[in-house]
Order: sequence, then C-alpha cells, then structure tokens
Amino acid sequence: MICKKTAHFNSFSTKKTSTKTSSKLYYKPKSGRSKDGLNVSAIDAAQPFDFEAKAKVVTDRKNALKIGIVGFGNFGQFVAKRIISKGHTVIATSRGDYSAVAKDLGASFYPDVDDFCEEHPDIVILSTSILSTEKVLREFPFQRLRRNTLFCDVLSVKQFPKQLFLKLLPKNFDILCLHPMFGPDSGKGSWRDLPLVYEKVRVGEEKGRKNRCEQFLHLFEDEGCRMVEMSCEEHDRQAASSQFITHTVGRMLGTMELADTSISTKGFESLRSLVDNTYNDSFDLYYGLFMYNKNATIELSRLEQAFDEVKGQLFNRLHEIIRNEIFIEDDERASQNKQNSDHSNLQGVSEDNARKN
Ligand code: NAP
Repeated sequence: MICKKTAHFNSFSTKKTSTKTSSKLYYKPKSGRSKDGLNVSAIDAAQPFDFEAKAKVVTDRKNALKIGIVGFGNFGQFVAKRIISKGHTVIATSRGDYSAVAKDLGASFYPDVDDFCEEHPDIVILSTSILSTEKVLREFPFQRLRRNTLFCDVLSVKQFPKQLFLKLLPKNFDILCLHPMFGPDSGKGSWRDLPLVYEKVRVGEEKGRKNRCEQFLHLFEDEGCRMVEMSCEEHDRQAASSQFITHTVGRMLGTMELADTSISTKGFESLRSLVDNTYNDSFDLYYGLFMYNKNATIELSRLEQAFDEVKGQLFNRLHEIIRNEIFIEDDERASQNKQNSDHSNLQGVSEDNARKN
C-alpha cells in the first residue's frame, strides 16, 4: 500500500498498463491524479541508475589527481582538455592571462605562480616552449610545492629537460619525462595508436609514489596511446631523423604555399596534411627541435645533401642530353668537314694528274 506521504516522493505509480514494456511500472506526471486520489510527483525517472552513477563519481573523485600545468598555450590547453574529461582536476599558470580559456575548459587559472604552487598539485606538467624552459625552471618556486611532487614535462626534445630537472629540481621530487608525439592537429580526435614516449627518470620507492606515476601514465594508455618506454637520449636520436625532418619538410612546403588543385592526387593531399600538422606549430617549437636536440644538425645536413643529390641527378641527365647534342653536332660537323676536305683533296690530286697527263 502506498501512503500519501511516500507516494508524493515516488517516481512511479504501481498502476498496470496494457503495453508489454511498461507492464509493471509507468511514469506518472507530477500533476496527475491517480484513481485512488493520490498526488504522485515524479522526481527522477531513473533513480536506481542515477544512484550507481553518483556512487561511481565518488569513487573516481577519491582517485582523481590534481594536475598543475605550467605554460597554458596551445599544447597546455590541448592536454588539459583531455585530462579534465578523465575526471581529474586541472590548475594552470602561464606568462599570459588564460583565465577565460581555463574557465571554459573547466580548469582554474592562477596568474601568480606562487599561488599556483600553494594549491599543492599532485603532479606538475611543464608545457612551456623549449626555448623558455631553463628560464622558467630557474625562477620556479619549487619550495612552495609538496615535498614529493611528481614533476613531468611534455617537451618535444627530451635529453635537455631531463638534465635540467636532475640539476634544478629538489632531490625529493619524482621525475617523469614525457613526449606525446602528437598535438592539437594530429591528436584532434582519438589518441588511439598515437605514440607516447616516456622515461621514468626518478620515481621514489614508496607505493603511493609508484602508483601516482602509473595512474598518470594510465591516463594516456586509457586513451589508446601506444606507450613507448625509452631513454630520453634514444628519443632524441630517433626524433631527429623522424620528427625534426617531418617538421622541416612541412615548413618548407608550408613556405611554398601549396594550393589545392582540381587534379590533386592522394600523394599531394598527404603533403598538404603534413603542412597542416606542422606549419601551425609555433616557430619557437620548431627552432627548439633544432637547437635543443644535438642530433638535429646532422639530420639537416643529410636532408640538404639528399636534396642536392636528387637535384644533381636531374641536372646531370639534362646536361648529358644537351652535351650529347652539342658534341654529336660537333662530331657530325667535324666528320662533314673531314669528308669535304678529303673530297677536295681528291679533287686536287685528280686535277694535278690530269694536268700532268
Ligand atoms: P610553444 O611555442 O612551444 O610554447 C608555448 C608556451 O610556452 C606557452 O604556454 C607560453 O606561455 C610559454 N612561453 C613561451 N615563452 C615563454 C617565456 N619566455 N616565459 C614563460 N613562458 C613562455 O607551443 P606549444 O605548442 O604550446 O608547446 C608547448 C610545449 O609542448 C613545447 O615544449 C612543445 O615542444 C611541447 N609539445 C608540443 C606539441 C605540439 O604539437 N604543439 C606536441 C608535443 C609536445 P604564454 O602563452 O603564457 O606566453
């Protein structure tokens, strides 16, 4: 039996209906009046499910990390969006004011780096330009953070931040060097199969510290990233011949301002998409790939040599054709001259003979 009081807060009426799907319970609008005169108000048609969802959020919240991002430019915002979507809290600081952008993304922005640190994030991600990294780190108030903060970076070069971290960070900080090898353009949609290179440079033995590092890495794994554990030095060696060359070719083609054509081939379209994936990145980023990866200079020289070699093959063939034409003409002219002179010599001899006779 439903008493008047409970019926008022119940979502469902127990009245049977003729349809199969709603044979047990059916939703009764708030203003409806049942046959027995009870007012039944619906507050939520799916209470049991809602309860489960709420319970899950509580569990997730217990596991949620507070992640601080230093440098809230292009990449900082890109990575913040995905972290927030996984239920973590993001706080950010930057040289410029990104309060409005942060608010839109659901993050909190702290223009003052001291205030940012006083929020005691579990993890700090350095997402500043490669060129400004040393300056930012040298001025950073590490002492305001928790004693065992996990410090990460997402720089596109790896040996440089690793060395700086080991030199400048307090000894009790954990260090994780990361390079998500994708950005706002190439990782616009899914992160499935996109490589994430990382090196656990220094992670304390305590279970909590290990778990925090794993939980953070799991965030990328969960998005489908291809997780590649690799030393920072090896990353730079491989990245110089792949990423730096990709960016260089993308920049060269971008500088050419290639326009779409009505007969574009698939190959040409992939060149244009290469430009889209590289040319929008800041020049600071590109310059950082060159300046702060000691393997880049040699790869740039190899690219230049390869270009000269290909160009050389073209021009050599062209020169050969022209040379052949020149020398064949010359040879033909010489043999013609020779024939003419032989002929006139013969003529001279026969004239002499005729005169003698
Ligand atoms: P970026 O030009 O490399 O860096 C821009 C960021 O650096 C902004 O947050 C900017 O802060 C900060 N910054 C620049 N000069 C500064 C200075 N003198 N002092 C303090 N902060 C300074 O562009 P990005 O694409 O955002 O890249 C950020 C980091 O992510 C880089 O280390 C890059 O290598 C790495 N990364 C980028 C990609 C990508 O596809 N874009 C992919 C993987 C990794 P303000 O805006 O406040 O001035």
